[in-house]
Amino acid sequence: MKISRRNFLKLSGLAALTGTLAAKLGCAPEEPTPTDPDDPTPVIDDPEELRVQYADTVIQICSFCGVGCGVLCYVENGEIIATEGDPDHPISEGTLCSKGSALFNQYYIYENGEATMNPQRMTKVLYRAPRATDWEEIDWDTAISEIARKTKDVRDEYFIETNDNGEVANRCEALAWVGSAMCNNEENYLYRKFVAAMGIVNNDHCARL
Ligand code: SF4
Repeated sequence: MKISRRNFLKLSGLAALTGTLAAKLGCAPEEPTPTDPDDPTPVIDDPEELRVQYADTVIQICSFCGVGCGVLCYVENGEIIATEGDPDHPISEGTLCSKGSALFNQYYIYENGEATMNPQRMTKVLYRAPRATDWEEIDWDTAISEIARKTKDVRDEYFIETNDNGEVANRCEALAWVGSAMCNNEENYLYRKFVAAMGIVNNDHCARL
C-alpha cells in the first residue's frame, strides 16, 4: 500500500489512539518512565524524541507564505534546537512543504557539518538616521513611538478629503502597508480594518491576505 505523508500522520494518530485504548484495557506494554535529567542512561530509543525531551515546545506559524502551516519549535536554553510540523494544526495537519521543512535553517548555518546560530539573523531593532552611513541599535519603545509619530505626521500632511471633482475621497496615498504571513485570519481582519480607517489605499502582502 502506498502511504503518503498525510496518510502516515493519520495512521500514526490512529496507532496512538489504539495504544491508548489498549492501555486502558490493561493489555498494552508498560509506558517508559521519563528520563531523569541527571541520569545519563536514556530510556527513549527514538533519537529525534531523545533530542527534544527536555525542550519547551513553542507553537508557531511558518513565516514563509500565506498558507500559514503550523510549526512546533523546540526551545532549550533560549535556543531553537529543532522544528517540525504541528500535527494538531487544522490547516497543515503536521505537514510542511520543502521551505517549511527547512525553517530551522533560518536560525542556523552549517559549517563543516556543525550547526551554529546564524550571525545574520536580526534580533534587535536597527535604525539608520537620514544621511547616516551606520546603523545604531535602539529599543522597541523608541522604535514604535517613532513609527507611530511619523505615520501620523505623513497621514495628516497628505490626507485627501475630496478629489479633483469635489467628491469625498478620504484617502492617503502617501503611505503603503505590507502585511505578514505570520498573522492569522483574525489578526489580518483587524489589520485590514486599521488600514482602511487610516485611509491607506496602498495595501498589499506576499500572500494577498
Ligand atoms: S512555506 Fe510551505 S510550510 Fe510554510 S506556510 Fe507555506 S506551504 Fe506551509
